[in-house]
Amino acid sequence: MALGRRSFVKGVGAVAAVGLAGDAKAGAPGGEEGLRVRFLGSGSACWEKEPRTSKIFRRYSSVLVDGAFLIDYTWMAEDMLPEGCRPDTVIYTHSHGDHYDPRAAVKLGVRHVYLQRGWLADAKRDFEKAVVKVGGVMPEIHPLDVCVPFNLGGYEILPLPGNHWTGKPHEQALIYKVTKRCRDGVVRLLYATDTSGLMSTVFFHGCRKDAPLTAVIMESTGNPVQKFGGMNISHSTASTVNDIFTTYLKPGKGHYMPPPGQPVYLTHIGYYEWGQRTFDGQLPPGLKLAHDGLEVLFKPA
Ligand SMILES: [Zn+2]
Ligand SMILES: [Zn+2]
Repeated sequence: MALGRRSFVKGVGAVAAVGLAGDAKAGAPGGEEGLRVRFLGSGSACWEKEPRTSKIFRRYSSVLVDGAFLIDYTWMAEDMLPEGCRPDTVIYTHSHGDHYDPRAAVKLGVRHVYLQRGWLADAKRDFEKAVVKVGGVMPEIHPLDVCVPFNLGGYEILPLPGNHWTGKPHEQALIYKVTKRCRDGVVRLLYATDTSGLMSTVFFHGCRKDAPLTAVIMESTGNPVQKFGGMNISHSTASTVNDIFTTYLKPGKGHYMPPPGQPVYLTHIGYYEWGQRTFDGQLPPGLKLAHDGLEVLFKPA
């Protein structure tokens, strides 16, 4: 189903029609001038053993979009959902346990799950087991293909390839471009975790100059070898976050046209010593560390 601008501005009604059951007030399409993202978690897989009382603790990475749907969701994020918010849709990036947790989804009452086609059979089995354990309802699992957009209650979601090995030979890890049409323009957000750099498909298909990105959330898992100004902000293998935003996605260059002053938010932060306190303020201009519970309203451009 492809909704045009008229359908977008119908707002809550259009959302309900395809089953999104989040907090409509928080911003169904057309209901708010921007795309509201709440970081339920901003850490990578290495945080499980860190005590929650630690000042630098980060939950596994997960975001709530407009109170309506989730990108990734695990047990660690349960306490970060706003009170009464029960989104019924999760879009998964990949099958790693710091992103994908069928039991947590079933417990939440999720009814629609979207993930890459290559591991759909595995996911079905996982969710069936989770339903037996937790006692909820089996959600509908929708297969996704790279570069084939789909419509989710008025949001256009474009799955793009992440440069990330999951251990499942048939799985392609995904990153997502989320497009929302607002009264005064469009928000096109790239949510990129986990990925080592950005694959050329992302530049040539995901953010063409006629439909540039206006917002970016990017992983920064880190690698002890890659450093920037003495601080470690690299991806797991190759290019650094800084490389990407000073070269390929330089604001104003065409592929990335954010509203003035809007930073790129870094998430999926690795390594214990990278706490918010030690790291914030030391990033190159235009990059900002996310933290658990941070809410950002990405304005249209
Ligand atoms: Zn991860
Ligand atoms: Zn991963």
